[in-house]
Amino acid sequence: MSGLLEGKVAIVTGGARGIGRAIVSLYAKEGASVIVNDLVPGSADEWVNESEYKDGLFPYYFDISDSAQVRANVLEIKKRFGHIDVLVNNAGVEYNELIGMISSANMEKMFKVNVFGTIEMIQAVSRIMARNENGGSIINISSMVGLRGNAGQLVYSATKGAVIALTKSAAKELAPKKIRVNSIAPGLTKTEMMDQADIEKLSARISNISMGRIAAPEDIAGGCLLLACDYSSYISGQILPVDGCTII
Ligand code: NAP
Repeated sequence: MSGLLEGKVAIVTGGARGIGRAIVSLYAKEGASVIVNDLVPGSADEWVNESEYKDGLFPYYFDISDSAQVRANVLEIKKRFGHIDVLVNNAGVEYNELIGMISSANMEKMFKVNVFGTIEMIQAVSRIMARNENGGSIINISSMVGLRGNAGQLVYSATKGAVIALTKSAAKELAPKKIRVNSIAPGLTKTEMMDQADIEKLSARISNISMGRIAAPEDIAGGCLLLACDYSSYISGQILPVDGCTII
């Protein structure tokens, strides 16, 4: 049985855990060769080696916010696989701080990874996708807080708002090269990133979700599959909320 991504080469950043890992697993199940990027060397090795799709999984450890590392690794991936068809900019960092408590070091880190890292990856990979006969698909993981805002998340929401804006601009610029660019905006999703969340505030946020539960990483991966596969061939420049129908 052939999968929806058979023959495609996909890069997923921050793929060692959380939402990234769910995207990696679904893409590999659907037949893609998946480059599993993450920051800490070896962080994905154990589960990759145990995965039933391990033959299609290729860990590459580099910092997406370092342009020299990004260029060198993307070139190496192109040499090894011949083409790159899908890029998921998933890696992200989040520090929740009230306005009076914002630290400049955390602010810098969030912009460096969430915004500059996403741009570095788009720059390096779109050059390679542009040479494909059928272009490619770039998916940027933003967040519902980038659309709606949230108390205690001024800086994080600003970085995700930037991801939403850059998605729309990149889609317009890259459309003539047959490269589609879209964003998935997840709502609350059960990963380690949520471990620092305040339980009381969390319950209040869940009561605001029509489906009555927070997302599993696999819910977000499903949206990423739609945007990666050829069934979304005429969808570009869009922001797709995957948030269980959040009320406000
Ligand atoms: P996570 O569990 O913290 O995973 C993020 C991964 O990205 C980690 O493995 C992390 O590595 C990696 N990473 C961080 N900086 C990197 C860098 N410079 N280069 C390469 N990899 C790097 O996060 P998640 O909850 O799965 O979130 C994934 C994405 O969804 C993020 O963009 C996040 O903002 C977004 N999102 C999450 C939620 C949520 O509720 N969880 C909601 C909306 C949007 P380390 O282990 O070394 O830190």
